[in-house]
Amino acid sequence: MAAQPKQKKLELSELDTLKQRLETLYDDARNNEKILKKFQYLELKLLSCSSLSELIQIITHHSRSTFGWDTLTIILHDEDRKIYKLLKDSGEDPDKQQTLQLLPDISHVKQIYGMNRKPSLGRFDLAKHRTLFLDTQKYPSSIALLPLQRNSRLLGSLNLGSYKPNRFQKGNATDFLQHLAAVLATCLHTAIAHERLKQAGLTDALTGINNRRFFDQRLDEEISRNKRLETSLSCLFIDIDHFKVINDSFGHDVGDDVLKKVAELVRAQIRSIDVVARYGGEEFAILLGQSGESKAVEIAERIRSIIASTQFNSGDVSTNITVSVGVSTINFRDTNNQDPKLIGRQLLQRADKALYQAKQSGRDRVIFLED
Ligand code: GH3
Ligand code: MG
Ligand code: MG
Repeated sequence: MAAQPKQKKLELSELDTLKQRLETLYDDARNNEKILKKFQYLELKLLSCSSLSELIQIITHHSRSTFGWDTLTIILHDEDRKIYKLLKDSGEDPDKQQTLQLLPDISHVKQIYGMNRKPSLGRFDLAKHRTLFLDTQKYPSSIALLPLQRNSRLLGSLNLGSYKPNRFQKGNATDFLQHLAAVLATCLHTAIAHERLKQAGLTDALTGINNRRFFDQRLDEEISRNKRLETSLSCLFIDIDHFKVINDSFGHDVGDDVLKKVAELVRAQIRSIDVVARYGGEEFAILLGQSGESKAVEIAERIRSIIASTQFNSGDVSTNITVSVGVSTINFRDTNNQDPKLIGRQLLQRADKALYQAKQSGRDRVIFLED
């Protein structure tokens, strides 16, 4: 009779343990469900991205804050600087993106993953992992490295870091992370292909610089940007003088080489954030953001003088040319709420008129036309 209450007590403590274990399992399941929902939300966001820069924004900003990762970097294989150029043309400055490294060679990343291209979780090792976390303010303690691959080609690596030494540990389940890496790799691949196609329609095949369609698109963007900043936007129209004579004297191929060289010289005189395009046959147009009259005229004069002093060589032909430049400026501190399209049209019309005056008054010169 005396043994019975003891047995009951034992059963109760067993029940307690079971209950606790169940609660832990239930908490884990709830936690996993929460994480899954966050991953699903992030994936939907990635899949609905319309551009490469937006995709990178989401992964570097949104995902970091959602999951509380302390550091996040992306390395992408950019063998021919195409991704760099795509981002630059879409108005991003990849040099300022601390989280993104575009590298012509990613053999060090390949080495880290080895043959087994699976997520790699564990302690941060300075000697081994420093190059993956360049520019981060503080090195992480534990890391998760996710290979970004498509059709067994390594596109790059998504590198997550935590200041907590145990956040990412060897042996942790990596299903969610692996899935995220696969989705991200596919999205990146698609976005790059899409941007390339878009760019092909916005590039001039002969000179490799942008075409008029690109210029017209960027004009709208530059107007809104400079208006927002209440700064000045300048436009330069550059036209080669007597170019027909070059074609007539030396042939079309020499003419083509001259055009290529002019494009190169013009591009070298402006900042990478400025917009330059082949606007027509032998006419180039430039937009200089945050630049007023004096800066624009100074750059126009620099372009004019460098072209006038350059020897143009093509085959056994060596020749000189000159250009005429028309310049106009809009100062957004002085404008009211005018229609941006109208502002753009007037800016171009004035530059064109200034160019006409430069031609009329003798060529090989810069003319600025006031508002
Ligand atoms: P101006 O000083 O008044 O500008 O005289 P111009 O001879 O430069 O101007 P015009 O408009 O009479 O001639 C432009 C020439 O540019 C005619 C055209 O054949 C040539 N051109 C246009 N596109 C190309 C091209 O892609 N390649 C070559 N080689 N020539 C081109
Ligand atoms: Mg001309
Ligand atoms: Mg012309």
